[in-house]
Amino acid sequence: MSIYIDQIEQLVVLQKVDSEMITVQYILEDAPKQLQELQEKQDYLKDQGAIIQEKIDVLVEQKVKLENEIDHDTQKIKKGKNKLMVVENTKEYHAMMREMDTLEKMNRTREEERDNLLADLEDLEGRKAALQTDIDSLGDNIAAQQATLDQELGAKKKRLLVLGKEKSKASDAVPAPILSRYNFIRERIPNPVIVPVSEGVCQGCHVVIPPQTYIELQKGEQILSCPNCMRIIYWERHFSEKE
Ligand SMILES: [Zn+2]
Repeated sequence: MSIYIDQIEQLVVLQKVDSEMITVQYILEDAPKQLQELQEKQDYLKDQGAIIQEKIDVLVEQKVKLENEIDHDTQKIKKGKNKLMVVENTKEYHAMMREMDTLEKMNRTREEERDNLLADLEDLEGRKAALQTDIDSLGDNIAAQQATLDQELGAKKKRLLVLGKEKSKASDAVPAPILSRYNFIRERIPNPVIVPVSEGVCQGCHVVIPPQTYIELQKGEQILSCPNCMRIIYWERHFSEKE
């Protein structure tokens, strides 16, 4: 009976170590992925920012062109008006009036166009600023996570080394046939592999074990498996896991 309890105790230790190793390994694999996701999100926002910037550049270029044209024609109108003062020929006077009228109409159209451009620019600048805020806050998040990640991963890697030693110690205490059974099951079914039986129910698969198996289990003479899920089982009253 006490040899049996010792073996179960070592198997429970082994199970505990393996559970922690699985968790630590998951964290080691998963943590960089989260950071990578944030970086990809930031890259996407930066691309969006670049697209907006390109639109802004085009609009600014159009605005400068329009303003130059407006200035140019405003000068022309000014000169024309000065000339009008000294024109004596009526026909020439009307021709010049029409020309200036056309120039003024064109300039008004350009000014409307420029106002539309300015409204579009303002809208784009607003979107650009909002994007930049998101990019910056993601950047802060990434920097903070990167800093803790290196530290955290370093600690987890050290913990894995400790666990590896604990595992080999617990493995040494378990008889070879049982250990190979344990490893056989571990490769085939999800963690945990060593589970208690509580009120006749396997805590691995939550199925009631057959009465004969339950009676055998309570005798505490040999290491048994759950007929349903194949996990190694023990009676919870034989051994309660110490914290
Ligand atoms: Zn089971």
